[in-house]
Amino acid sequence: MGENLILQKKLSGSSRVLVTGAAGFLGSHLCDALLGEGCSVVGVDNLCTGKAVNVQHLAAEPRFELKEQDICQPFDPGPVDYVFNFASPASPVDYMSLGIETLRVGSDGTRNALEVARKYGASFLQASTSECYGDPRVHPQPEDYWGNVNPVGPRSVYDEAKRFSEALTMAYHRYHHTDTRIVRIFNTYGPRLQSRDGRVISNLMTQALRGEDLTIYGDGTQTRSFCYVSDEVEGILRLARSDEHWPMNIGNPEEWTILECAQEVLAVTGSSSRIRFESLPVDDPIQRQPDITRARQLLGWEPKIDLRTGLKLSLEYFQRCVERGEEARPVQAAAPAASATQPAAGTNCGGARGREDP
Ligand code: UDP
Repeated sequence: MGENLILQKKLSGSSRVLVTGAAGFLGSHLCDALLGEGCSVVGVDNLCTGKAVNVQHLAAEPRFELKEQDICQPFDPGPVDYVFNFASPASPVDYMSLGIETLRVGSDGTRNALEVARKYGASFLQASTSECYGDPRVHPQPEDYWGNVNPVGPRSVYDEAKRFSEALTMAYHRYHHTDTRIVRIFNTYGPRLQSRDGRVISNLMTQALRGEDLTIYGDGTQTRSFCYVSDEVEGILRLARSDEHWPMNIGNPEEWTILECAQEVLAVTGSSSRIRFESLPVDDPIQRQPDITRARQLLGWEPKIDLRTGLKLSLEYFQRCVERGEEARPVQAAAPAASATQPAAGTNCGGARGREDP
């Protein structure tokens, strides 16, 4: 991998850091953590799904600036030591309604961010996703599983954009000797998760607090593993300081069915909302759980906050959203229908399986 040639700029208190997607849920928490370490942060966001209010508390911070900019256009933030590329619509409802923009930010945007790193000899960390594993046939998912992604389904705009951004990051590492990292982020939640982004935690918390029915898609037996935001950011910073160039899962390995998750939401909110079943979106993964063996071994990291505790820590934030009149957002109608009939998975054009597949 040519490690000898790589100029590594370690993350330190004197670093000047670029965060793309700085006004997003994860990006804004990352900015807080980097500033807490003493770094100067230049945040870039086109406010397409990010919200300026997420970094409003940093308005008087002299070590922070937010530039409203679309990273799909080449840009130059000046000399930086580290680039964290976190710009992208990230919830299924958002990326399915912004399909072309999502593909562009994963491709053109990632390339422009990598060019900034290359120009200034900065290190680079790419925010990737558990969606790279698609609807996984290997469970839990280790990093060397290649995934089971439908390349032409409604989620492909996000899954393939992120898979391409991983490939591009590795190519800059191999061909330009850029010092790169790739984090595969599993479902993360906490304050600043937009109540209207359509994700399961934001929808269920908002619905429970409004006394509305909790919408469960499918029969609720599909699983996810939920990581509280402070655990996620800690794992990302540990990866940034490591020498690991291969993708790294950072997520909470505690696996929940969506029905169990709804019960936790009811317990934490004290709500008597009922559950309403709705149809399962196309290609919705049936199971998801990170194998974090490598993060434990290489970063000495594992999450500390369980779902019940994390939901309690998020409660006040969602209460404020509801007080402002914000509502949950259904997934229906987010993705425009394709005119062609899609071939079923498992036919010879649906078998994008990894080498670990049994
Ligand atoms: N989900 C649900 N009700 C909702 C929103 C989501 O049952 O109001 C389900 C969704 O179908 C999926 C899981 O919860 O199986 C997680 O969805 P989310 O949008 O949070 O993220 P994903 O993991 O699918 O990217």
